[in-house]
Amino acid sequence: MNTLLSNLREILDDRGVITDPVEAEAYLEERRGRFHGKSQIIVRPRDAAEVQAVVKACTAQKTPLVPQGGNTGLCGGAVANADQIILSLERLKQIRAIDPANNTMTVEAGCILAELQTTARDAGRFFPLSLAAEGSCQIGGNLATNAGGINVLRYGNARDQVLGLEAVMPSGELLSDLHGLRKNNTGYDLKQLLIGSEGTLGIITAATLKLYPYPDQSATALVALHDLPASIAFLERAQSGSGGTLCSFELMHRVGLDFAFKHVSGCSDPMTAPHEWYVLLSLQASGDAINVDTLLSAIL
Ligand SMILES: Cc1cc2nc3c(=O)[nH]c(=O)nc-3n(C[C@H](O)[C@H](O)[C@H](O)COP(=O)(O)OP(=O)(O)OC[C@H]3O[C@@H](n4cnc5c(N)ncnc54)[C@H](O)[C@@H]3O)c2cc1C
Repeated sequence: MNTLLSNLREILDDRGVITDPVEAEAYLEERRGRFHGKSQIIVRPRDAAEVQAVVKACTAQKTPLVPQGGNTGLCGGAVANADQIILSLERLKQIRAIDPANNTMTVEAGCILAELQTTARDAGRFFPLSLAAEGSCQIGGNLATNAGGINVLRYGNARDQVLGLEAVMPSGELLSDLHGLRKNNTGYDLKQLLIGSEGTLGIITAATLKLYPYPDQSATALVALHDLPASIAFLERAQSGSGGTLCSFELMHRVGLDFAFKHVSGCSDPMTAPHEWYVLLSLQASGDAINVDTLLSAIL
């Protein structure tokens, strides 16, 4: 480890290597406290070239690396053992390009998801990936886990948002496939193998992502249902009656609402009587051609 540590210090700047246990703690603790890492070295490269150099140095010493994004994953995938090094992507934060005409943005892996949503919005566009951890999870982590979130019904999972990918392979080579071409029918699609591989095949350093028109209309409803089969019938009704504007359809049992009423201040039951199942649904659209309030009223 000592030879490797001095190699890593040569590759990275002063803030690029953490060995102080107090400073390292933030990278070792899974946020619910269910997993606790033992890694003694955290590396924080600034760009893809530094990631490549770190991977080559670790491969040469046969030392495993665990990539870490926002560390919001709930199954301990970003937690590392004592003989493993954590590679945090938090300093790869560049927006490399945004192209509203082509509806794409090319961003580095360490960008926080909520910041990318804002970047897209500032350009008059919409980036639909959205989940409760969006204030701290990173796009690299979202792609590594093929995250879902609340808009999957309409826009698909994280993998459906990707046109191009850049990643560092275990050899240290850079897989550079960043492009914004939609009608791409060339050969094998290696990026889709890397997406969802949770850091086991390579380290994602950047991606070209799809953008959409910003939905300036939104209508939301909480619907109470007597039983589970009613939710399937209601989903069919919402899908066929919403003209393609249905974004979210979240099914919740009464137990979940009871937790919220009990523990979230200011949260109370909006219905006159309790029901066993609830659906929170959302319709969104851009422009004036469709009115989502009218569509929602018709569905209800
Ligand atoms: C409140 C809350 C709500 C959530 N809601 C959802 C949800 O709706 N849908 C959903 O799918 N998940 C959800 N999650 C889980 C989690 O937020 C997602 O899995 C998220 O995509 C993880 O991103 P991260 O940056 O935190 O990754 P991390 O937790 O840091 O890492 C996750 C895995 O990806 C690997 N990894 C991270 N970055 C890279 C990279 N650049 N290259 C290669 N591998 C990498 C890690 O090694 C690890 O195996 C939720 C979590 C919380 C706390």
